[in-house]
Amino acid sequence: MIKTNTGPRLSFEVFPPNSQVGVDNLTNTLDELKDLDQSFISVTCSNHKLDYEKTTIDLAAYVHDTLECPTMVHMPAAYVTKQEVSRILDQLEEMHIDQVLALRGDIIEGFTPEKDFRYASDLTAFIKQVKPNFTVSGACYPEVHPDSKNRIDDVKHLKQKVDSGCDQLITQLFYDNDQFYRFQEECAIADINVPILAGIMPIINRKQALHVLENCAASLPKKFLAILDKYKDNPVALKEAGIAYAIDQIVDLVTNDVDGIHLYTMNKSDTARHIYQNTASLFDLDDVKK
Ligand code: FAD
Repeated sequence: MIKTNTGPRLSFEVFPPNSQVGVDNLTNTLDELKDLDQSFISVTCSNHKLDYEKTTIDLAAYVHDTLECPTMVHMPAAYVTKQEVSRILDQLEEMHIDQVLALRGDIIEGFTPEKDFRYASDLTAFIKQVKPNFTVSGACYPEVHPDSKNRIDDVKHLKQKVDSGCDQLITQLFYDNDQFYRFQEECAIADINVPILAGIMPIINRKQALHVLENCAASLPKKFLAILDKYKDNPVALKEAGIAYAIDQIVDLVTNDVDGIHLYTMNKSDTARHIYQNTASLFDLDDVKK
């Protein structure tokens, strides 16, 4: 269930590594998040069904049982059947995990999707039908999903997704808060009234910075581009400036009454901890753990 509180919430996203060494490193770093009072940790999933149980479910079990943290599991549906989803939902229920981020997933060229879930809204409705007590979140795109013809269609489809049973939305990463505020207004006009958690991804190294510059569809403000340019050959400064930029975004969002911040941690607990410690008083967290 979504944690009940009155102020904005802070949550983290982690992803399953693709090797045993990666798993060991990740569990060590995750242990460093154990004493933080995040609202939940979400565990991503590759869009490949055969990997799902060995990777996402295993990591989700670790977050839930060892970190004792409310856990959300990402579930892309394009390449799975209703029968497979039912089995995984039963497994999650047995593990006492009742939060799912219902996704369509990307359509991969050369692979024909299954027919059971065409859009994330189909998966959302199905989960709500078979597990009415589950909390279902959905993805949203302040700067429009790349498959959409235009903003209007994108928001109309989002409204359908929410009406199919979404309890809250989590945004794609963005670096320009004004894009988020515009999107919030469009949602309000479309009568989309569920909480919208803002997805924030701090830049912490050159490889990631280059990836963002080359592939990110998000608007990149002048101030942000200047940081990437000036510190591209200074890893320590790039990381510090990237984290400071993310904190600046978070302070502005919380000051403007955002429902929550979902931090894309890139599996870096030191970054997550640093941001947590520097923003904890802004959130509705347990006083003891601030
Ligand atoms: P949908 O909500 O189904 O939307 C997809 C497209 O279809 C949009 O353009 C939408 O406007 C359109 N559409 C929706 N309904 C209709 C309709 N009725 N008629 C016509 N068009 C429609 N991917 C992963 O593989 N694994 C992850 O763990 C993962 N985690 C993510 C977490 C977040 C917070 C976000 C924002 C994205 C994540 N993704 C992940 C990426 C996501 O799977 C892709 O962006 C995917 O292309 C779309 O998924 P969706 O759930 O948003 O799809």
